[in-house]
Amino acid sequence: MDPGALQPKFRGCLVGLALGDALGAPFEGARAVARAEVFAAAERREVLRYTDDTHMAIGVAESLIACRGFNGRHMAETFVRNFEREPWRGYGPGPPRVFRRIKCGTPWDKAAQDVYPGGSFGNGAAMRAAPVGLFYHRDPEKLREVAYLSGQITHAHPLGKEGAALEAYAAALATVFGPSGSSEDFLARLKAFVTEEVYREKLDRVGHLLGTADAAAVAARLGNGIEAFNSVPAAICCFLRHPGSFEDAVVEAASLGGDADTIASMTGAISGAWLGIGGIPEEWAARLENRVYIEELALGLWEAALA
Ligand SMILES: [Mg+2]
Repeated sequence: MDPGALQPKFRGCLVGLALGDALGAPFEGARAVARAEVFAAAERREVLRYTDDTHMAIGVAESLIACRGFNGRHMAETFVRNFEREPWRGYGPGPPRVFRRIKCGTPWDKAAQDVYPGGSFGNGAAMRAAPVGLFYHRDPEKLREVAYLSGQITHAHPLGKEGAALEAYAAALATVFGPSGSSEDFLARLKAFVTEEVYREKLDRVGHLLGTADAAAVAARLGNGIEAFNSVPAAICCFLRHPGSFEDAVVEAASLGGDADTIASMTGAISGAWLGIGGIPEEWAARLENRVYIEELALGLWEAALA
């Protein structure tokens, strides 16, 4: 693919990630809501503020750019520094405890297991994984390796890391194949990529949900909680149900309730990569907090990935 044609996809991915996060944020932990409520909540806000999901994805992008690839210690220290500057972004209870250990000298790849023996399978590694997908879009096996390693910083359970790899790979595929590729082929490639049975089974269910008009069935059949094996397939499903419309995909994800900001953020990253920045409503993008910086990071990732 022509490198120049990829640039709007990188921008779409990161702006889409942050916008999905901002649009879903009012509904985090809530019941399912109607589409109109998601639009109305966006309308009411002058600035569309993002949460920890985007804040950590920014850290991933900053570190990949600075190191021209993955460096675990650098990425962990970037997370710690960013958290200390803006601890009010809505972080869950786990990451700050991991960050304290890293600050006290626990190695970056050991701190998460100290906090959660056996590792966490929450979606905290997946929610920030799209920049890994952009950076390694040409090399799925390297993408998988870095998704696992970058996930390990906070989420050491194999299902948490697999969720990160799946979200990163979905963003990479969308970058390369959208918007002219086929949804069936996209889903088949995801199924061939995953190594954990629970994800393969969830992706089978995604296939069945593409033909139904009922958005409530997405949460009912896939789950909308913080577990990576629920929320990552739910995010992919919302994208695949509306591949031609960023608005429809992200609003559906935000309307599911549950971990709405994270699900909408993961949907937004994939949809933005698929459609490119031109597919994202400017009326929303213009009100996105730190939009200029987020687009700078997308360009930095693009330059570094294609170097
Ligand atoms: Mg959040």
